[in-house]
Amino acid sequence: MTNRIAEEPKRKSGIKRLRKLRTSIAERRLDALLISQPENLRYLSGFTGSSGWLLISEQSAILATDFRYVEQAKEESPDFEIIQTKQELRDWLPGLVSDLGWHKLGFEANFISYEGYHKLTKAIKTKPVNLELVPTTGIVEQLRSIKEPEELGFITKAVKLADAAFEQAKGIIRPGITEKEAAWEIEKFLRQEGSEGMPFEIIVASGPNSALPHARPTEKIIYSGEPVLIDMGARISGYCSDFSRTLFLGKADKTFQEIYNIVLKAQTTAIERVESGMDASQADQLARSVVEQAGYGDAFGHGLGHGVGLAVHEFPTLGPSSSDSLADGMVFTIEPGIYLAGQGGVRIEDMVVLENGKAKVLTRAKRDLLC
Ligand code: ZN
Repeated sequence: MTNRIAEEPKRKSGIKRLRKLRTSIAERRLDALLISQPENLRYLSGFTGSSGWLLISEQSAILATDFRYVEQAKEESPDFEIIQTKQELRDWLPGLVSDLGWHKLGFEANFISYEGYHKLTKAIKTKPVNLELVPTTGIVEQLRSIKEPEELGFITKAVKLADAAFEQAKGIIRPGITEKEAAWEIEKFLRQEGSEGMPFEIIVASGPNSALPHARPTEKIIYSGEPVLIDMGARISGYCSDFSRTLFLGKADKTFQEIYNIVLKAQTTAIERVESGMDASQADQLARSVVEQAGYGDAFGHGLGHGVGLAVHEFPTLGPSSSDSLADGMVFTIEPGIYLAGQGGVRIEDMVVLENGKAKVLTRAKRDLLC
């Protein structure tokens, strides 16, 4: 059963999102936009199925999906006209678009395969339709990057759940346990406490493995005298969190203490100084210059952070070559790291939201070195 009263705010925000999207479509002088990226679909329509297409114009909001999802689409997307599709995109799209009188149709260039595009253009050529396909990128992603209060509420819940999982993990990660066992304990906790699956595979990387920024948990036993890097997140009502800490089992040696303190200083500096209006590459530089001045610039081989929302990696990208800029309402990670091949690594990752021009930290777990 659905509760119509509870759905009202959701429908209102859906209508607001469509209004913003229609402005972007008009600015690009398109008649309509074809959307296939799953999180974009969900953001605009509420539809959570794994296969569907949105067609948005000034007048229309259409959700096209196949037999398997029609009932779900009617339920989840009451403000959309639901069309049941048969066969492939090329078989139904040209006719539908020509019936609607559209001539310039934008599509998401990052989410249609080369083959799919090729087949579609071929199909258009064989039909008596006047239709131009226009590649676009990032239109809906830009809208998604500014979070509404309701979205921030879901994200905050997902952040709290990751914080709680870390509290529990601290008690579990002891010498003798394997990385895989530790990762499974964290996953069990997250799922039992309400996470909708895992937004990404949990990382528990010990000793030299912690020097691999995207290590996978292995059968390796965790020993005393080793760093342990944990990276995990939860998902609540579709919204993700992302969290990393690095522990040390036993007494940390000098090198580890040194790199830990540099990473912590880089992170604190970025959190304190990042501002709305700043280029995302400048934000990256706030932390990077701390690491570079300490002589470890080459060991910080990834960007400072990334937006988090319905996807665990989304707009904006905080990195040296990013062209994004930061604005109030954006939620992103701040996660500098230093990785010394063969020895070990440190990453400290918090999530923040930009409010009144400054970063407010959502993550609650302490950041000082835990031994
Ligand atoms: Zn991250």
